[in-house]
Amino acid sequence: MTRIFRSPSAYVQGRHVIDNIGEHAQTDGSRAVIIADPAVRGIVGDSIRSGLEATGLTTDFVDFGGTCTDSGIDRAAEEAEGADLVVGAGGGRTLDTAKAVAARHDTRMVTVPTIASTDAPTSSLSVVYTEEGEFEELRFHGVHPDLVLVDTAVIAAAPIRFFRSGIADAIATRFEAETAIEAGAENVFGGQSTRAARAIARECFRTVEAHGESALAAVERDAVTKNVESVVEAATLLSGIGFESGGLAAAHAVHDGLTRIEPTHDATHGEKVNIGTLTQLVLEGRDIEEFHDIVDLSLDLNLSVTLAQIGLTDPSDEQLRTIAEAACQPQETIHNEPFDVSPEAVREALVTADELARQRRNTREPG
Ligand SMILES: [Zn+2]
Repeated sequence: MTRIFRSPSAYVQGRHVIDNIGEHAQTDGSRAVIIADPAVRGIVGDSIRSGLEATGLTTDFVDFGGTCTDSGIDRAAEEAEGADLVVGAGGGRTLDTAKAVAARHDTRMVTVPTIASTDAPTSSLSVVYTEEGEFEELRFHGVHPDLVLVDTAVIAAAPIRFFRSGIADAIATRFEAETAIEAGAENVFGGQSTRAARAIARECFRTVEAHGESALAAVERDAVTKNVESVVEAATLLSGIGFESGGLAAAHAVHDGLTRIEPTHDATHGEKVNIGTLTQLVLEGRDIEEFHDIVDLSLDLNLSVTLAQIGLTDPSDEQLRTIAEAACQPQETIHNEPFDVSPEAVREALVTADELARQRRNTREPG
């Protein structure tokens, strides 16, 4: 019954905080390597470079290729040889690659998310994909970023789809953490969860429920309001700590299953996770009112609620079987549910959630 809570050492969030990255990074090393793709480099590359060089660091850029794969990590790690500080700037896949590189070289590490779409900036793990783009494994590094630096002006200017995706991931955090904690399951660190993690997971949900719609409206106009700041914190800090120190359950396992099917590859992490959340609620036999509440919230926030919305119009039996079997692999967090879960049960919960969500959406449509 050992309780374990772990987190990044520092979290700094606000408009234009990137300009002071050197000061916030607090490193006494001399060489920084910045891992980013060319598009991200065009947006924040100059600010990161001048912010680091202002404190006496030399900087080099490493181009990142798109997906977090073994070969991508090897290549970036080679170029980062001898660095004292690794900075990852971009989306989840870039940050996951940068974390893996920093862990391999045992250097200080800063994540600079440019979109609010996943928990990657704060976590100590990387989601590694195969060259074909399928989920391969969660790789645990045993260390967290020393600093998570979130520039909300950059986040608000990014495509709104990513912001929505982060909100969906934040909704899942609460349901998965609560389930894992109630089942007495181990968290990502192999310990029991803390009361702190439970409170964070709940606050994460409460924040996106209360402020998500207003924040999305602001981001639609590239505006950074107080609600945008709150929702960015929920989607990044609270969701990241909530899932790692709280625990995962069915929703992310269903997500992993969905990535095995080619037609879902254009859907974002959060879009697939939201289908996972709805599936988890059905799997757990939750009251229909609670299910409808989450569908309604999803519809208010324009999150995906049906399989068709993530590319699976009329899925075949074989596709459903592939998803369900992948979601039930022995290492999957679906086994944190407080009952035995079989592929049949997952398949049936998946199609039932899809049907229930479709029916609910129809009752809400005008006329
Ligand atoms: Zn996630």
